[in-house]
Amino acid sequence: MESYIGLGSNLGDPETQLTSALAALNGIPDTDLVRCSSFYRSKPLGPGDQPDFINAVVLLDSGLTANALLARLQSIENRQGRVRGGIQWGPRTLDLDMLLYGAEVIDEPGLIVPHPEMRHRNFVLIPLLELAPDIEIPGLGRADKFLADTGRAGITKL
Ligand code: ADP
Ligand code: MG
Repeated sequence: MESYIGLGSNLGDPETQLTSALAALNGIPDTDLVRCSSFYRSKPLGPGDQPDFINAVVLLDSGLTANALLARLQSIENRQGRVRGGIQWGPRTLDLDMLLYGAEVIDEPGLIVPHPEMRHRNFVLIPLLELAPDIEIPGLGRADKFLADTGRAGITKL
């Protein structure tokens, strides 16, 4: 199944975090990393006193079920998305969101696809549309229509 994954990081050298994540994603069993968008720098949504994010979207071609693929994404977050801070593990610094899983609509306690926030986030829509200009969000229509609502403010290509 073709699945689009959103990547984001704003701590612990975000570009390195994303580059490491790409290798890890390509290493998921029965899964190929088909294409990766450009990296983008975006302004944080919450308080403005946190670092900018680096975001990207990748297209995976996976033989795994959506749930098995999500478990792999979470294990990559856990393995690579933490930075050493003293003797304790620091906060998560890598976010991997399953945006789309084919044209499937999934609504389970731990997995909602299409990702419910993707339509509101230009830092997801812009890299997604870079990979797939005509992509549809199942049940909602063309993704580019939502970018018209969010606008392009706050995000620049690296
Ligand atoms: P967010 O990505 O919203 O900032 P988190 O990454 O901490 O926050 O959220 C992780 C939780 O979201 C997990 O418990 C996971 O099961 C759930 N979840 C539901 N749908 C998805 C999805 N499509 N992709 C990733 N996580 C999801
Ligand atoms: Mg997440």
